[in-house]
Amino acid sequence: MSREDRTPQFPTPPSVEASADAHALAEREERLRAALYASRTGTFRWDIRSNALDWDENLDRLFGLAPGLTVRSLAGFLATVHPDDRARVVAACERCAATGADFDEEFRVVWPDGSVHWLDDKGRTFHDEQGRPSYMTGACVEITDRKAAEEERERLLAALGTSEARLRRILESGIVGAFYWDIDGRITDANDAFLALLGFTRDDLAAGRLDWRALTPPAWRETDRVAVAELMATGRHGEYEKEYLAKDGRRVPVLIVSAFFENSREHGVALCLDQTARRAAEEALRLREAQLREALDAAHAARAEAETANAAKNTFLATMSHELRTPLNAIGGYAELIEMGIRGPVTAAQREDLARIRRSQQHLLGLINDVLNFAKLDAGVVRFDLAEVAIAEALAAAEPMVAPQMAAKGLRFALPAWDDTAAVRADPEKLRQVLLNLLGNAIKFTDRGGEISIACDVGPTMVQLAVRDTGIGIPAERLQSIFEPFVQVDRRLSRPNEGVGLGLAISRELARGMGGELTATSTEGVGSTFVLTLPRAAATAAA
Ligand code: ADP
Repeated sequence: MSREDRTPQFPTPPSVEASADAHALAEREERLRAALYASRTGTFRWDIRSNALDWDENLDRLFGLAPGLTVRSLAGFLATVHPDDRARVVAACERCAATGADFDEEFRVVWPDGSVHWLDDKGRTFHDEQGRPSYMTGACVEITDRKAAEEERERLLAALGTSEARLRRILESGIVGAFYWDIDGRITDANDAFLALLGFTRDDLAAGRLDWRALTPPAWRETDRVAVAELMATGRHGEYEKEYLAKDGRRVPVLIVSAFFENSREHGVALCLDQTARRAAEEALRLREAQLREALDAAHAARAEAETANAAKNTFLATMSHELRTPLNAIGGYAELIEMGIRGPVTAAQREDLARIRRSQQHLLGLINDVLNFAKLDAGVVRFDLAEVAIAEALAAAEPMVAPQMAAKGLRFALPAWDDTAAVRADPEKLRQVLLNLLGNAIKFTDRGGEISIACDVGPTMVQLAVRDTGIGIPAERLQSIFEPFVQVDRRLSRPNEGVGLGLAISRELARGMGGELTATSTEGVGSTFVLTLPRAAATAAA
């Protein structure tokens, strides 16, 4: 087969010898030129022996040159070729010149404006009578668009390749089970993860022992039916939870994502995610919630019970105290009548006994009042009538009530100077009660010759009244508990003082009831300080 026959797409170069008719020749030439121009095909002729290269104006255009204005040469052509393609083009030219092979290369040219264009260049080598390569002629077209399309296709294929590879990695990773299924129930293929999840082997699969309907527990068949019906109706992928029966009968909770193959309503693919761990976690959470709820209910019930019991105790204490006060008052009253001589003459010895009766009666009355007060406070039925109370006034009311006891015990009383215009917001009666309790304790627990003082610290919003003594003090570990009801640091020690351990509990409740607080600091053998904090009265509060 001749070269001409192999490459019919190349127009046969017109041979002057072949045409006798000059007119017909000119016409053919014109037609050819028009066709080349219209198809934007450039042509060239390369004289291999002289190495002269010439091309037409169409090729000028493909090189981005002004048609007909450039000196054409092999060096000029190679200069337009993109540097990265130049060596390849040179090698192809040399090969053609040496062996007489045809030229067939795609390469880039760089236009003077810097833009890059792809050309497809095909040339045929002609030989002289001795069979040596003589010259080459050929044609060139621009293929930039085709190249761009090819590159895009390759990019897409590469991307597809990686996403396919990714998918394959996921399927082989053992995280996700995957299987092919058909509408009759068959599982025709599955990955290792799916087989492992349900405890089947490749042999089971090959023997057709995997049937997704048969592997679905009866309770879940309806779920399957609905999912498949929806898939049939919409063609969209379905995603739902269900259970499978493993080979050993175990139930395996899974999440299924299922879809038909393209153009099919019989065959599909499904991904299968093990939900065992998630279910277990959910179950544990549910259990924990139920336990918490139970514990909370129990706590509520216990609290309600305690509240009921406390209310009953308070009612009992209040009733008892009240009932005890009546006969106690009667005792006091009759003792007084006798003492006054209304029942007849009283001897000196009898008078002394009557005084003892009266003291005991008063003391007992005090204790009973404490119990009654505490019961009332604890029951939350105490009313606080808050008013502005000048501190000087409150102290003036309390001092005379304790002065005789202090004098009897030989205690000094010190009231350092302070801003005596300051006032607190308090219930006057209750404030007096707290001060009396604190002063009474200070007297009780301070030995003869000691000192009791009250200091006042007026802050912007709060006022602190500190009752200080140089008494026996309180061990650090008992400091908090002395505010608990019925707590006494040393029953034997306080026996002669005969309290019940309610004073501080009541005082702290009263302080808190007035929006304040009662705290204590103490050093054993050195003394104690009880600090009563109360809100400063608005009118006197610092601006
Ligand atoms: P009571 O004085 O009736 O025993 P309180 O509640 O007033 O009850 O006091 C509780 C206990 O706190 C007292 O028994 C005593 O042990 C201790 N206490 C209170 N005030 C002082 C104080 N100023 N110095 C030393 N101990 C104190």
